[in-house]
Amino acid sequence: MRIKQAAQAFALGEVKLLEGPFKHAMETNRRYLLELEPDRLLARFREYAGLEPRAPQYGGWEAESLSGHTLGHYLSACSMLYSSLAEAEFKERVDYITDELELCQNKHGDGYVSGIPRGKEVFHEVASGNIQSKGFDLNGAWAPLYTLHKLFAGLRDAYRLTGNEKALVVERKLADWVEGIIAPLSTEQMEEMMICEYGGMNEVLADLYADTNEYKYLTLAEKFWHKLVLDPLAEHVDCLPGKHANTQIPKLIGLAKEYEWTNDEKRRDTAEFFWNSVVHHHSYANGGNSFGEYFGDADSFNDRLGPQTTETCNTYNMLKLTKHLFEWKASAAEADYYERALFNHILASQHPESGGMTYFLSLAMGGHKIFDDKFDDFTCCIGTGMESQASYGSAIYFKGEDQLFVNQFIHSELAWADKGVTLLQETEYPLDDVIGLKLSCAKPVQFSLNIRYPGWAEQGVSVEINGEPIAVDQSPGSFIAINRLWIDGDLIRVVIPMSLRLEAMADNADRAAIFYGPVLLAGDLGSHDDPHASEYLYAPVLLAKGKPLDTWLEAVPGKSLAFQSKMVGYPRNVELAPFYQMVDRSYTVYWDLFTPDGWAVAEADYRKVMEKMQRLEQCTIDYAQPGEMQPERDHDFKGDSSTRVGMLNRRAFRMAGQGGWFSFDLKVQPESEMMLVVTYTSAQEMPNCEFDVCLNGELLTEVEEGFTEEDKFFNVNFPLPAAALAGAEKATVTFQGKEGKRIRRVFGLRIVDREQYKQLGVQSDSI
Ligand SMILES: [Zn+2]
Repeated sequence: MRIKQAAQAFALGEVKLLEGPFKHAMETNRRYLLELEPDRLLARFREYAGLEPRAPQYGGWEAESLSGHTLGHYLSACSMLYSSLAEAEFKERVDYITDELELCQNKHGDGYVSGIPRGKEVFHEVASGNIQSKGFDLNGAWAPLYTLHKLFAGLRDAYRLTGNEKALVVERKLADWVEGIIAPLSTEQMEEMMICEYGGMNEVLADLYADTNEYKYLTLAEKFWHKLVLDPLAEHVDCLPGKHANTQIPKLIGLAKEYEWTNDEKRRDTAEFFWNSVVHHHSYANGGNSFGEYFGDADSFNDRLGPQTTETCNTYNMLKLTKHLFEWKASAAEADYYERALFNHILASQHPESGGMTYFLSLAMGGHKIFDDKFDDFTCCIGTGMESQASYGSAIYFKGEDQLFVNQFIHSELAWADKGVTLLQETEYPLDDVIGLKLSCAKPVQFSLNIRYPGWAEQGVSVEINGEPIAVDQSPGSFIAINRLWIDGDLIRVVIPMSLRLEAMADNADRAAIFYGPVLLAGDLGSHDDPHASEYLYAPVLLAKGKPLDTWLEAVPGKSLAFQSKMVGYPRNVELAPFYQMVDRSYTVYWDLFTPDGWAVAEADYRKVMEKMQRLEQCTIDYAQPGEMQPERDHDFKGDSSTRVGMLNRRAFRMAGQGGWFSFDLKVQPESEMMLVVTYTSAQEMPNCEFDVCLNGELLTEVEEGFTEEDKFFNVNFPLPAAALAGAEKATVTFQGKEGKRIRRVFGLRIVDREQYKQLGVQSDSI
């Protein structure tokens, strides 16, 4: 039986977004969804069902063995927009896709349907006990259960949000097929299989139980208890450091759903412990988590800043989990986190004109946002982004027994049908601190109106009803409850004064982000392609330690939420603006704070580090940083569709899938004795790597598995044949995977003067 919730979110169709940044984002996303072609997303579903594709498949991750993941997200996002806007175009797309999936499923004839290459074979191997499971690879396919989860979720949303009954039929048949795969597996075999990312399979199966009342689906959901991760969390052990973040979050969303149908307190407690760990010990100022996709040590952020912070999917999933926690207890802490992550990550992750979305949202000092290509990348974050940008209405208001919660301050209108109440929320928040709530009802209604009193609102709030102030007894981080008989035309005016504040990093009290009320501010450093961006102190330090913020940050006249630093920026002062508005700019959201005396000492250390780097630079003829956009562009990076980037231990890398390749052009000086220095890691290395390293197409060396270094970066040096490069200014270094084999992660490519480099004595150290 379902648990009794303290609060329940309203349906998307009951909440209408009105003019403002969130509606703008939804509209931008709406246009994007209509630009996508369902037939292209369906291409591999048809192909693997033995039907002729109606259009070529898309590229990026859709051309990999993760193909089909986007279709699931797309089905969800179109269902959400239909639910919100009631536009026939979205319903037509949902129906069309569902019909096509049914067709493909019938062609398979056994309930199976997917766009995963070799999908059915992979699962049959698994069912037979042949389980080859790695972090992202199950029997040679890229996270096939993750991809199935997206399809299940899309079908669920088509059924729930658009009333498409056929979607439920297709979903059940697919679930029955999955049951056939999973049923023969022992607990140990399940555990082995779940080493590979499986999304929220437990979530969608629990939902299917809810939609069908078939208990077997709940039983199946419960089989996805991944002991390796969930057992320690159930014991309140933060086992997250070093784990892939977005692999874990959906498991906890699944537990939340299971709890809601089983009343199993262990599941609730585990989900809550996880939420508290992530929100309070693994999250950056923008509410996002992860560095290069991975959790770090608890409260460890100082050394984890770079272009690949805060994967956007993770926050999409954390907000889903947060919504469940709020529904259980209606406490303001969850609603406060929701605001932080919604305004400062999700809203910040979409390009407001193009509709492109970020994969990682860089919090690097001097970083900039990189938006995925809308039609050629199809990363996980494009998929979840489609949904995030379509569902802003989903957590603004909640209802309880004779209670209405106003959690988020977003210009919108709520139709509360149960009570015959319409609530118009008029606000320009966060540009303004005034929120007007206007009630319309045919007859008087008694209920408690609960308005969130944000945790950051240390200056108090004021509330008036029909022009009369009321006493507010509550404290920040709670709800202001106003229980009365409401009548048509009642007007509530809430003012939440905003102010500037610093939020220091947990592990560095002198490195802080600056907020104005709910809004994370970013220093605007210049254009996103500013050639000076890599220079020393491009992101200035602030000689403002210990000084009240309002003495050195002044509002810029005529601009909303813009502030100018005065006298404290070194070597320059900057203007700050909301991070969510920062597009095509270089920025910093974290600042190092010093007293003037402290800086005089610290700068000497900064310079020492600089000198060491300079000596290395002197013997370097060229250096390419794989995995970072600008350096790759500068070195004419090329590669096939299997190549991917990532981040590990604060270093960006590039790798390639089976038989893949990539190359960089590097400068050479044939008059010098040269060496190519390639940086690898042995940490958490992926197996099945075997590849050639070539110089201008000539084999330089063959690399096989078998590095036995400890868990650290290490360099492998290749003397370059100067004669072969005579007269050349550049040489192409190509990594070519052997057939069916991958290329390991490459963290750096450096061409050096061999003699000078040896004198540095760093040839086998990490650099
Ligand atoms: Zn993602």
